[in-house]
Amino acid sequence: MLRWQIGDVHITRIVETEDTSMPAEVMVPEATPGNVLPIEWLQPHFIDEAGRLKSAIYSLLVETQGKRLVIDTCLGNDKPRIVPDWNRRQGAFLEEIAAAGFPRESVDYVACTHLHPDHVGWNTMWVDDEWQPTFPNARYLFSEKDWEWLDNAPVTPLGDFCGDSVRPIFAAGLADLIVPDHRITDEVWLESTPGHSPGHVCVRITSGGEHAVVTGDLIHHPCQMVHPEWCSPFDFDSQQALTTRERFLDEFADEPVLIIGSHFARPTAGRIVRDGDVYRFEV
Ligand SMILES: [Zn+2]
Repeated sequence: MLRWQIGDVHITRIVETEDTSMPAEVMVPEATPGNVLPIEWLQPHFIDEAGRLKSAIYSLLVETQGKRLVIDTCLGNDKPRIVPDWNRRQGAFLEEIAAAGFPRESVDYVACTHLHPDHVGWNTMWVDDEWQPTFPNARYLFSEKDWEWLDNAPVTPLGDFCGDSVRPIFAAGLADLIVPDHRITDEVWLESTPGHSPGHVCVRITSGGEHAVVTGDLIHHPCQMVHPEWCSPFDFDSQQALTTRERFLDEFADEPVLIIGSHFARPTAGRIVRDGDVYRFEV
């Protein structure tokens, strides 16, 4: 279990998957073995010796000023999905968050960086033949623009993640539509970083003179620090996603800001440093 402390803010990573099972075609199609193996610093953490991308799906548990926040909720259990590794999972997420001191009833806020199936899954759980909110005492923060898009989007072959993981939160009266920048506490806020989805946000954390950012999917893999132009096939607007990514890299390069990459494999967090005309991830 990875933990970080930013001033008074405690952050704990709860992993659902972490391996080379997410193929480059799905994450960053241009990141083929031939294209990533020459980037030597990607080994050993972010690619294996065959040039396969390592990635992770995880939630962050954040304690800030007496409030408990969950950032992104992974894939969830029991959800019918077309991706075999994502289909009807039976993971120990609930036991793991409780063991980390975050029993689900104790959570005050759930923030989804965007409304995609690998970020909303544990919003709900299957109880008494229906999808019920996993965090019954939380306010769930969704960006208004993402909801406008998803509410009207057709169900994709991936599975009805809106119907099983987002609509039940509205039905239970626990959803708050937010317009970024949106402050959760004095130390934590959601910042607009559109492109991968219409209302995508990253999470900014500042406390005691220390700083961190949780990227969401504005960058999927550290190889995009060398090749920001490599885009995800799931970007809603690739051009806007690229603009957002380039701005992000420029803003945080060589700054004392811990970058926590939402799909970055262990050690997951590090600093962006300039490396000639491009960037490198220093862990
Ligand atoms: Zn994702």
